Amino acid sequence: MMKHQVIVVGGGLAGLRAAVETAMLGVDTAVLSLLYPVRSHSGAAQGGINGALANMEECKDDSPAKHAYDTIKGSDFMADQDCAEIMTTDAPARIYELEHWGVPFSRTADGRIAQRPFGGAGYPRTCYAADKTGLYILHTLNEQAVKHGIKVYNEWAAIAVASDGTASHGLVALNLQTGEIESFAADAIIFATGGAGRIFRRTSNAMQSTGYCLGVAYKAGVPLKDMEFVQFHPTTIVGTNILMSEAARGEGGYLVNNQGERFMARYAAKAMELAPRDIVSRSIQTEINEGRGFPEGGGCVHLDLRHLGREKILERLPGIRDLAISFLGIDCIEKPIWVQPGQHFIMGGIDTDKDGATILPGLYAAGECAAVSVHGANRLGGNSLLECVVMGQRSGAAAAQYVKGKASAVKEAVLADAAKKATAEVEALLNSEGKERLVNLRDRMADTMTNHIGIYREEKAMKEALATLQELRVCYRQIGVDAKTRKFNLDLLRTIELGGMLDAAEAMAAGALARQESRGAHSRLDFKTRDDANWLKHTLAHHTPDGARLEYEPVTITKWQPEERKY
Ligand SMILES: Cc1cc2nc3c(=O)[nH]c(=O)nc-3n(C[C@H](O)[C@H](O)[C@H](O)COP(=O)(O)OP(=O)(O)OC[C@H]3O[C@@H](n4cnc5c(N)ncnc54)[C@H](O)[C@@H]3O)c2cc1C
Repeated sequence: MMKHQVIVVGGGLAGLRAAVETAMLGVDTAVLSLLYPVRSHSGAAQGGINGALANMEECKDDSPAKHAYDTIKGSDFMADQDCAEIMTTDAPARIYELEHWGVPFSRTADGRIAQRPFGGAGYPRTCYAADKTGLYILHTLNEQAVKHGIKVYNEWAAIAVASDGTASHGLVALNLQTGEIESFAADAIIFATGGAGRIFRRTSNAMQSTGYCLGVAYKAGVPLKDMEFVQFHPTTIVGTNILMSEAARGEGGYLVNNQGERFMARYAAKAMELAPRDIVSRSIQTEINEGRGFPEGGGCVHLDLRHLGREKILERLPGIRDLAISFLGIDCIEKPIWVQPGQHFIMGGIDTDKDGATILPGLYAAGECAAVSVHGANRLGGNSLLECVVMGQRSGAAAAQYVKGKASAVKEAVLADAAKKATAEVEALLNSEGKERLVNLRDRMADTMTNHIGIYREEKAMKEALATLQELRVCYRQIGVDAKTRKFNLDLLRTIELGGMLDAAEAMAAGALARQESRGAHSRLDFKTRDDANWLKHTLAHHTPDGARLEYEPVTITKWQPEERKY
């Protein structure tokens, strides 16, 4: 049995920032991660990180309060306003801290951190390092983790939280290198396991963004919040759905249909291509559905950057250009890029308070896997990297306070029980000769979610989705794992993951079916308007053996009364 005061699960931006905080506060901290930290999906973030630094001439009147308002309006008034304000108020300090730790931000002519316009923002507020912002921040935080001597368990998968219902007593994890299951005693655990894009067919997310750990927390008795709010990014490359960052439109890129029109004029005349993502994705999908798209990849539009000129593209968007050349064979200096919407982000996740604490004492969550909620029904671009560093820091501080100066209260018997149960489950999977195959079940789940819980939703399709997910859960009990080796058995890992993914998918579908309104990214053809009287409330999905049990809780409104969203 391994022992630490705090174990952070996940080595992305949120996890590393949390771990650095606890270590700086003198707490014995370990990071346990499926991947070597710098390979986390955070490293793929291109566009930037928001903070009201007011560094540019065009944004000298910007302020954290204006940033909070844009975030709340962007969220379709579903964000908890106290939490959004905490995030935007903490933003400048967290960004300057990153700068001091060495993030090579792009600069203004007089040497300040440069800021670019992003969707749904009243001012250029997005700080960036060319179009590789996430990569630079991740490497910088990893250097801090090394500097503070944080122990990293690489290539381990967390598979269960040991809970006796009153507190968390540690973690059970699978060592991929040996295939052994081990237990980790820890008074506090911080989940920072990222997104859940792989539940869907078309996604910009990395292979590791499975959402599996949402299922782990859910089974440990922690509700999942607002899972129906799933962000579809407007511009992913057809076929692979690799992201073409919003920075491309922030720098002035156009979206064009097969008539040669900049069609956003029809949907958001003022903000045009820089309307929030939910609106731009719906607009693109409507153009495709109404026959004004191009046929490639089952329907797409053009992202045209040619008018920006070679020099600007090479300076500000070199990564975008390389990706489009490598994965589409198109050089955006000469030709438009074929893009279509793809799943990108989950606004929902493990229910936490403003310090990352869940209802299970000792269990915290931060980053994309958590729902604080700062993004509500729709996240603004650039606010997720910000959430990771703000909530990483806050959850780290809260977990440190929870464990510091106290003798360990870990009940080893509870941990031993959890390890025994997890071992039995994994052994059963490994030895199963069941007739169902992982790839078939995963494909059916992903297709169902993209087709029925996608950009546009309606009752009949969502009911079908729920029925399919329930059927898949039955099939899952008869799944057979072909590879029988213990070392690096990815067949086994993916099979374990599918169980948690089905739970998270079911919470998304159940929440979406129940919510009879359109708000932010949740857009229903049968309930087209927002309904504040009945639905200005968070969904909490509780795990039961028969599926999600839904409860609701109020949204915190402080200064900004809900109003119609116009752009
Ligand atoms: C292509 C792309 C571009 C983006 N661009 C931007 C942008 O410009 N600005 C912005 O604000 N946001 C952007 N986002 C969103 C943002 O990058 C993510 O929301 C954020 O980086 C998530 O960070 P995280 O720390 O929560 O998770 P991640 O960085 O995904 O890290 C998750 C960690 O959890 C670990 N893990 C997962 N499961 C387990 C397990 N079972 N056991 C152990 N470890 C586990 C993984 O190994 C990994 O280390 C982008 C997202 C994508 C996909």
